[in-house]
Amino acid sequence: MNIILLGPPGAGKGTQAKRLETRFGLVQLSTGDMLREAVASGSKLGRKAKEVMDAGQLMPDDLMILMIGDRIDQPDCRKGFILDGFPRTTPQAVALDQMLSEKGLQLDHVVEMKADEDDLVERISGRFTCAKCGMGYHERFKQPKQAGVCDVCRGTEFTRRDDDKESTVRRRLEAYHAQTEPILPYYEEKGILASVNGMAEIDEVARQIEGALAGHGA
Ligand code: AMP
Repeated sequence: MNIILLGPPGAGKGTQAKRLETRFGLVQLSTGDMLREAVASGSKLGRKAKEVMDAGQLMPDDLMILMIGDRIDQPDCRKGFILDGFPRTTPQAVALDQMLSEKGLQLDHVVEMKADEDDLVERISGRFTCAKCGMGYHERFKQPKQAGVCDVCRGTEFTRRDDDKESTVRRRLEAYHAQTEPILPYYEEKGILASVNGMAEIDEVARQIEGALAGHGA
């Protein structure tokens, strides 16, 4: 099963992608995580990505299409994948379709995670991640069970994203409305789009997504 999670920054795509990985044995493909790895490695791509991400803008389509194409070719993707953060523009969506058909693959579901704009800013500015396993937490909504210790891997170091500052978040939301939201009708026409309420409790969102994947549109 190949899935896209589509939604504004902070809608919970990463959190739900991790749950789907466990639940269905799929692989999460997050272009944002790939770019953050490039930034951490200090490569030429990483330096460009840092500039673009800190400005709340999007990386060029051709670069992102190559990046995801290479990743989909890896053997672990054969069991199915969850795209988180890709596609983000109509050219990316069109290129993805072409790439998948060349590989003899197809998209099964696109799940839109709807969210309220002001709530998103609050959500994003409180979030932090385990530096070791990438598990996501939130100051108000999802603290680790034991303060300062990751529930999953017992790691004790946490990081925050540079682009989670309010001013950058506002620009990322603008980019979402201008460049990513217009993709939705493309998938609606193909009959594979379902929408869920991304602002519900994490378990409830997961339940709605499972319903959508089972074909009971939410
Ligand atoms: P994310 O972790 O998905 O919120 O992505 C963080 C940042 O990485 C975005 O604000 C963009 O600057 C960049 N980015 C991630 N995925 C893409 C993509 N598919 N196309 C263009 N830029 C991207």
